[in-house]
Amino acid sequence: MTDLATHLAKLDTHLARFRSGGILNLIDGQDVAGDATFETRSPVDETLIAHVALGDAASIDRAAKAAKAAFPAWAAMPGDQRKALLHCIADGIEARAEEIALCECWDTGQAWRFMSKAALRGAENFRYFADQAPAARDGQSLPTPTHWNVTIRHPIGPVGVITPWNTPFMLSTWKIAPALAAGCTVVHKPAEFSPLSARLLAEICNEAGLPPGVLNLVNGVGEGAGRALTEHPDIKAIAFVGETRTGSMIMKQGADTLKRVHFELGGKNPVIVFDDADLDRALDAVIFMIYSLNGERCTSSSRLLVQDSIADKFHARLVDRVNAIRVGHPLDPATEVGPLIHRTHFDKVTSYVEIGRADGATLAAGGLRVGGEGWFIRPTLFTNARSDMRISQEEVFGPFLTSITFADEAEALRIANGVAYGLTGYLWTQDLTRALRFSERLEAGMIWVNSENVRHLPTPFGGVKSSGIGRDGGDWSFDFYMETKNTSFATGQHKIQRLGA
Ligand code: NAD
Repeated sequence: MTDLATHLAKLDTHLARFRSGGILNLIDGQDVAGDATFETRSPVDETLIAHVALGDAASIDRAAKAAKAAFPAWAAMPGDQRKALLHCIADGIEARAEEIALCECWDTGQAWRFMSKAALRGAENFRYFADQAPAARDGQSLPTPTHWNVTIRHPIGPVGVITPWNTPFMLSTWKIAPALAAGCTVVHKPAEFSPLSARLLAEICNEAGLPPGVLNLVNGVGEGAGRALTEHPDIKAIAFVGETRTGSMIMKQGADTLKRVHFELGGKNPVIVFDDADLDRALDAVIFMIYSLNGERCTSSSRLLVQDSIADKFHARLVDRVNAIRVGHPLDPATEVGPLIHRTHFDKVTSYVEIGRADGATLAAGGLRVGGEGWFIRPTLFTNARSDMRISQEEVFGPFLTSITFADEAEALRIANGVAYGLTGYLWTQDLTRALRFSERLEAGMIWVNSENVRHLPTPFGGVKSSGIGRDGGDWSFDFYMETKNTSFATGQHKIQRLGA
């Protein structure tokens, strides 16, 4: 098995060129340095990874114009040619998956055991949408006695993709692959805290033969490049993944140019464990869904709702397991939880330890910083929480679990739905009728019954309430990146009303 030292040596080789040349933007197929730069640092020890080109409104304008110029030819390319190209990109991702994962662990602090799989998921996203490309324009035939209606879809135009710092590579491909498959051109603004893997993706696309201007990369901060992208008149739609309050800002910023928006936002997802559940499997899933990927995961089950008849026993087992989670260097294959992305986020997550205590919940595990360097924190568990506490209501976005007990199904549902968010829900019960009844009433875009989050690409992905607008996955992605046109042909000599005759 590859060890930490080997990973570090390989990483060093991959980073050498970024250390000397910085991370550049890629616009119209060309490397572009910014007038200014910003730094990206590793959450492991705060060392400088590279200087990054700081894109501004002028860089976005250049990228949007390149995307606009490239759009007609890309949109007109036959779907099977786009399919072949996107498969070449997937080949490129697979060939460089190790490099992507190494860079991403170092840039984000998320552990190798998850990021190595996330890199390959990026390739799967490209392959899935590549295969859909030839049929993306297909429509329906809707005849009436007098008219024959036919629908066809057209790509909407150049689109902006704005992504966050958690699993940035996988999430970027989840947006960019369907946009390209649909025939859209793209300007990508990745998160300022994790720019490395977006650069690798742009390079891979370039090397695979994607025409210049089809995918443009502009790094920068939200209020600068991000804002400019959402306001640009040539950009027809914004696919955004990030915080709820940023989504709200983007909606306002895009109002003047009537942007179509697709939002994947925050969550405070419940995992509900009834006393008839398979408790061994439920325990594994509860732990996995909040402590994997550092808990910096929109679909994490950050609220445990456990039936009070089994709560003490379940909590005791949970505490033992949480205390045994291995916190360490993200490139160590043994590590289960790495450092949080950056200082501000570390401060936010740790502030909730004090908030939880002050509100009267019990700190049952974790809560402490690990070491004096980097943004490591022990996986944290609060029990005896009430649903109205801030640790039960607000998205902490770290390895931080709040447990609330419930007496019966009605109370569980009330607590589960009693938050602003509605992204996912996880339900543990052997009672099929209850599972059907409960999942029907649970306010969430995605629900798993007796399972952790297992994605199937043709299924819809997205949230309700403050967790998002719109769905990704399968054909839902194409609905966002394409316009549907209806053409109605008169089939006979139907009577037309004669005015003024
Ligand atoms: P964030 O909203 O701070 O930033 C996301 C992106 O938006 C970044 O690229 C940032 O530069 C940009 N941005 C910030 N302000 C902007 C503005 N005014 N105009 C345009 N762009 C702007 O989010 P984050 O902290 O990077 O990511 C964590 C959040 O993302 C969490 O809330 C998490 O739940 C959410 N998330 C949701 C999903 C989902 O599928 N629902 C998936 C992953 C992450």
